[in-house]
Amino acid sequence: DGVIWLDGEMVPWRDAKTHVLTHTLHYGLGCFEGVRAYNTANGPAIFRLQDHTDRLFRSAHILNLTMPFSKDELNDAQCAAVRENNLDEAYLRPMVFLGSEGMGLRADNLKVHVMVAAWSWPSYMSPEAKERGIKVRTSSYTRHHVNITMCKAKANGNYINSMLALNEAISGGAEEALLLDNEGYVAEGSGENIFMVRDGVLHTPELTSCLEGITRATIIDFAKDLGLEVKERRITRDEIYVAEEAFFTGTAAEVLPIRELDGRAIGAGKRGPVTEKLQTMYFDAVQGKLPE
Ligand code: PLP
Repeated sequence: DGVIWLDGEMVPWRDAKTHVLTHTLHYGLGCFEGVRAYNTANGPAIFRLQDHTDRLFRSAHILNLTMPFSKDELNDAQCAAVRENNLDEAYLRPMVFLGSEGMGLRADNLKVHVMVAAWSWPSYMSPEAKERGIKVRTSSYTRHHVNITMCKAKANGNYINSMLALNEAISGGAEEALLLDNEGYVAEGSGENIFMVRDGVLHTPELTSCLEGITRATIIDFAKDLGLEVKERRITRDEIYVAEEAFFTGTAAEVLPIRELDGRAIGAGKRGPVTEKLQTMYFDAVQGKLPE
């Protein structure tokens, strides 16, 4: 049951269908967002709604897709998807994709479809993982970026390597994958940005081989509020091995400590104090609590 916003209308879930000749299903040109609503003292609220809508429009622009709706309409659609499905803790999936009017790579004269689905989603990671941290493996798959859309677009086609990497990590006994870029520098997780703490300074890869994450930006702001220095630069894999702390950030993963990379304990092998502080600030922020 429930409804999905599709091309400007709310339709029942079972009627929100697409044709097998949907162009994006064949060639992967499309873009999407992962957005979350949290239960706050004032009822359900979508965290960083405008930032996600802005990134969706930037992704579409990079892919040369003309959005048939305005940003306000997309904001309203996301709020309506939460409200009309009676959700509070929810995941939202806006997506832009090409229709089924024709095949072939020219892809002209195709309709640009937009949909927003939302479903109940209290948590991605277990409370233990958020507290103890997770085990990560460096992937044999690199972050897909050179020929596709770099870091500014959350494009469907960018996720093939992410999926292969995540499945490889899980079958190797880890919980997440760390993808390197084509030159061997640290890029990001399968769906998360990465940070490390060294000498009390926060380091994160610059935006040349990772998605311009909204949680990443939020954490950089929090760190600066705490008076921490933040450096955006190229990072090597062995720097993470010897870091005091490391963690992932993402809409799904939130702030997730990394306790081990490739069998090496990171720092004390458990959530570190800087990670814990930033995690607390993040959980407060998503619930609409103002900083003390
Ligand atoms: N990196 C990738 C590849 C992602 O898919 C995501 C998730 O959207 C992120 C990083 C984290 O981005 P955000 O914090 O905007 O969710």
